[in-house]
Amino acid sequence: MTSPVWHPFTQHGLGEPIPKVATASGAVLTTVDGREVIDAISSWWVTTHGHNHPRISAAIAEQAGKLDQIIFAGWTHEPAEEVAAELVRITPPALTRVFFSDSGSTAVEVALKMALGYWLHRGEPRHRILVLEHSYHGDTIGAMSVGARGVYNRAYAPLLFDVGTIPFPHDMQVTLDALEAECRAGAAAFIVEPLVLGAGGMLLYAPETLAAMRDICARHGVLFIADEIMTGWGRTGTLFACEQAEVVPDILCLSKGLTGGAVPLAVTLAIEPIFQAHWSQTDRSRQFFHSSSYTANPIACAAAAANLAIWRDEPVQARIDALAGAQARHLAMAASQPSVHSPRQLGTIAAFELGAGQDYLSDLAPRLLAHFRERDLLVRPMGNTIYVMPPYSITPEQLGKVWTGIGEAIDRFGG
Ligand SMILES: *Cc1c(COP(=O)(O)O)cnc(C)c1O
Repeated sequence: MTSPVWHPFTQHGLGEPIPKVATASGAVLTTVDGREVIDAISSWWVTTHGHNHPRISAAIAEQAGKLDQIIFAGWTHEPAEEVAAELVRITPPALTRVFFSDSGSTAVEVALKMALGYWLHRGEPRHRILVLEHSYHGDTIGAMSVGARGVYNRAYAPLLFDVGTIPFPHDMQVTLDALEAECRAGAAAFIVEPLVLGAGGMLLYAPETLAAMRDICARHGVLFIADEIMTGWGRTGTLFACEQAEVVPDILCLSKGLTGGAVPLAVTLAIEPIFQAHWSQTDRSRQFFHSSSYTANPIACAAAAANLAIWRDEPVQARIDALAGAQARHLAMAASQPSVHSPRQLGTIAAFELGAGQDYLSDLAPRLLAHFRERDLLVRPMGNTIYVMPPYSITPEQLGKVWTGIGEAIDRFGG
């Protein structure tokens, strides 16, 4: 019997096995047939403290027994209030408002709609959105529009709206000049992944560039949207990547690790003027027209509140620092192989190309996937780009096994 399930980013025609996972704990997934698989990519960048952190699991169970779901238009509840207050406390003071949604893509859609609403309600409509080359912001039509065009959105390309694409900062001055010119011509907002372009292939750029891009937007009044959906929650070594450049965005998108990676939830934080542009005592048409059925679902918010408590009470930063150190040592070993290109690291993220150049549909990709699957490792290269982004609770022994498997892949396929 074949399964009716249609999987994301999966070519079913290749007939590759689809492991069935029954339970998880820390960095280990256990399949229904009893195999133990090490999760080296945090289940697609979401799991931060490890799977089934007891405090997050307990918070979910407790909340499920109290209040499962409630309309959020004109109603509220304690877990949402607690999460919003804590997010405002731990982010820069300029970010005063928190809008809930349920995935990274929707957090980005909300950010774009907030920016366009801001300009409309100020009486000077602006619609042009600026983006960074190679960026990724999600898979809905709006989020795809502000992301890189490629094989993954070719079918929809005619429907995607036009954006101004700023060259990736291989050369900082080229990027800044292009951004300056676009901002001068008039734009509503610039959306950017701070310091690491994740789905673009773990491409890194310098904090100085991020800070300079932010300054240019500020000088021209172009709203600066930071998409920290992947980079947030410690991935880059600090709670948020923007901190490393002392950048304060006008709008901040968070999701993935917001609940520790346990259940879906997202937020879009905004500065007060954006909220005020939508505020009126008389004009109901200025309200923010966005909602999803499960906006600020109480169970998801309880998980987020537990995650925020873990950040307050547990030595999360020390775990991140230790993991970053271990990643640096493993990456340095791998980098001594001639087939390893562009080894790079930021915080807990380590990446390199096997062979020169980047190629998402590289023939190597399916063979690498099979290689790691055979070794009970969840490592999912993007084409020939291999990266490791584990939960912070991964043990040194587990991380060693991951890099042993990577070393074998380098020997086997590195040529
Ligand atoms: C994953 C991701 C998104 C989309 O989040 P989803 O929850 O998958 O919709 C947006 N931006 C970045 C930078 C991401 O890494």
